[in-house]
Amino acid sequence: MLVSGMGVRVIGKKISPKAVPEPIDRDRQKMQALAAFTARSLGTSTPRPFGAAIVHSQSGKVLLRALNRVAQEHDPTSHAEVRAVRLATRRLRQLPLAGFTLYTTCEPCPMCMSAILWAGLDRVVYSATIEDANRHCNQIRIPATEVASRSDMSCTVSGPLLREECYGLFTHPNMLRAFRSWSTRKRT
Ligand SMILES: [Zn+2]
Repeated sequence: MLVSGMGVRVIGKKISPKAVPEPIDRDRQKMQALAAFTARSLGTSTPRPFGAAIVHSQSGKVLLRALNRVAQEHDPTSHAEVRAVRLATRRLRQLPLAGFTLYTTCEPCPMCMSAILWAGLDRVVYSATIEDANRHCNQIRIPATEVASRSDMSCTVSGPLLREECYGLFTHPNMLRAFRSWSTRKRT
């Protein structure tokens, strides 16, 4: 399909047999799997609502998944997304991570979004929002899209996707109990 007019030309994508799910279906599938992975922590002594996965953008193959480990590592930078980026670059011995997409149960904070941009990932897909997380713990309230738009790097930011499902990680009774001991818990 070729549409022209007013000096704008839009060339439609070729339709080819589908060997892989449509991106939106795949995004949902990947996010559901990540939510399930993250939910497993809710039954442990250290529940966490923050999980991230790095997935090959074309094949959909999951390279790795990671949880937030700030408390375990006594490291304020050990957010799930930063850990996933670090693990991926070390495992692949590769930078940039072009050709990969990062899925995260919560919209990346400015630190994580910066790491995603510096890592050169193709896309980030998030579920719950920074505002959702901010009901329970402190946040830096700058949207991921704003961090991306102010950078020289290109990374597509998609979300929120399956927001209710991943927000459920924050409101699980075990998580609500655990938040009380977080140093970054929301004090109102
Ligand atoms: Zn973060």
